[in-house]
Amino acid sequence: MRRDPTSEKTYSMAVQLIEKSLNRKIRKIQLLNMTKREIETILGIRKIFLDAFKGFYFPKTDKIYIVDGNEEDLQTLVHETLHSNSIFHHENSPIWLYEGMTKALTEFVMLKTHNSIQSDLYLKEEKEFWARLIKTNQDIIVEAYFSENLMLALNLLKKIFNIEENIVDLNFNDVKNLSNNRFFIGNGQ
Ligand SMILES: [Zn+2]
Repeated sequence: MRRDPTSEKTYSMAVQLIEKSLNRKIRKIQLLNMTKREIETILGIRKIFLDAFKGFYFPKTDKIYIVDGNEEDLQTLVHETLHSNSIFHHENSPIWLYEGMTKALTEFVMLKTHNSIQSDLYLKEEKEFWARLIKTNQDIIVEAYFSENLMLALNLLKKIFNIEENIVDLNFNDVKNLSNNRFFIGNGQ
């Protein structure tokens, strides 16, 4: 693992894009480059999954890791920088929430700053769900995402969803079904 100046330059750009488009101050952390081999040994990720990884944020070490070859991948850096500044992660919320929100916000930031995006099909529906919510309730979504208090963040989301249920206990299908009945009421589209 080592520091890489090109990755760090892309990281700085990513931080600026997020700050500009979401109007939030971003907390910067350490960034390290890794080879696929290092990821396999250190993180125990199996070979078949490795191709999908360009970078990741690890809450336990509070560092962003960039896989060699992705030093100039702005979208990946925006995505991981967002993760590293969010209260939501895999230990406190379901994947449709923390990953869907991060994917939708990544695309929002990239498009708002006139950068091209690469879409993948993984969690596509979840991402589109959050993208719609960002359109209608951007301030509250951003407030919740960057909140330092999980209860506060979840209560903000409950307010938008207009539901009593504990959001972290719901799966995406529950949310979709609830949304057909209750979400977006009074919000137009
Ligand atoms: Zn992610």
